[in-house]
Amino acid sequence: MTATARTVVIRQHGGPEVMMLEDRPLGEPGPGEVRIRHHAVGLNFIDVYQRSGLYAMPLPAALGQEGAGIVEAVGEGVTHLKAGDRAAYGGGPSGAYAEARVMPAGAVVPLPEGIAFEDAAAIMLKGLTVQFLFRRTVPIASGDTVLLHAAAGGVGLLACQWARSEGIRVIAVAGGPEKCARALEHGAIHAIDTRAVPDIAAEVRRLTGGRGVDVVMDGVGRDTFEASLDSLRPLGMMISFGNASGKVPPVDLMALASRGSLKITRPTLFTHIADPEACRAMAADLFGKVVAGEVTAQVGQRFRLDEVAEAHRALEARETTGSTVLIP
Ligand code: NDP
Repeated sequence: MTATARTVVIRQHGGPEVMMLEDRPLGEPGPGEVRIRHHAVGLNFIDVYQRSGLYAMPLPAALGQEGAGIVEAVGEGVTHLKAGDRAAYGGGPSGAYAEARVMPAGAVVPLPEGIAFEDAAAIMLKGLTVQFLFRRTVPIASGDTVLLHAAAGGVGLLACQWARSEGIRVIAVAGGPEKCARALEHGAIHAIDTRAVPDIAAEVRRLTGGRGVDVVMDGVGRDTFEASLDSLRPLGMMISFGNASGKVPPVDLMALASRGSLKITRPTLFTHIADPEACRAMAADLFGKVVAGEVTAQVGQRFRLDEVAEAHRALEARETTGSTVLIP
């Protein structure tokens, strides 16, 4: 067993340059823990928030939330995994940007043979997010219309496919004609190019015959929040689940009343996967979609672990499509 693992660590919050690759000690898993050797690691926007300090962390901190690989050892009380198993996770304590790590076993699930490590690293955190958005947040039925921001991103392309598989109509919002084309290929029924269409809500009204959409899924945050509310039908549901453009300012509840008794929620994946049983059920639902071919991993970019700063720059510069994977 290697006694150390190359791990990306931050000692201060800041730009991509604060990420350092260090050799960190790799111990034995304690009770309820697992040691996993990564074959692929997923990049997520939450890693940017944690690096920049938008979501402050005690420092020094290891970054990364999503990975896939082989279980090397399990601690006392872990029964759903054993050494040698293929496994994957999305969420849990940060520290995935590493060759290997010890972590709580609760969020780690056995990986079906048919799903490659790289694909797992592309779908775990983002796919579980899509699962809770469509299944566990507000009832969304076949025929309903959802406005989806950043539709060609990591979460976005998985969400387009999930919606198509359930007969849910997605109006995609994305930056540029190529990203719009990707969203349409993956199941959106309309795409709005933010670079060409200044008034998203007016375009949504036009596309929906004036009615508005049933649900908005908004991971962009500050820049799109008002347009999202303006795109909803009366009694519609606003799901604000991210801040790629910055944090949403405090909300005046009267803004919901005046637009037609709107509903709003600000969920996080961590609430949904806190219960290991729920996490495994969500993963089984996601893997079912993948094995059935209804949802396929979309790896748009690959970087080596020592190129992680470049990967963060690309994600923040809106240069990526689909998921980004780091290869340790
Ligand atoms: P993406 O691959 O979607 O990348 C972010 C995309 O956001 C960009 O490609 C860009 O798409 C769009 N964007 C719009 N404005 C900006 C901006 N000012 N700066 C950067 N990007 C911008 O990332 P992920 O798939 O990793 O995550 C998508 C969102 O989902 C994030 O907000 C993330 O925090 C959130 N999320 C939330 C979770 C939760 O539990 N609540 C869990 C997982 C993800 P374009 O060029 O098309 O505008």
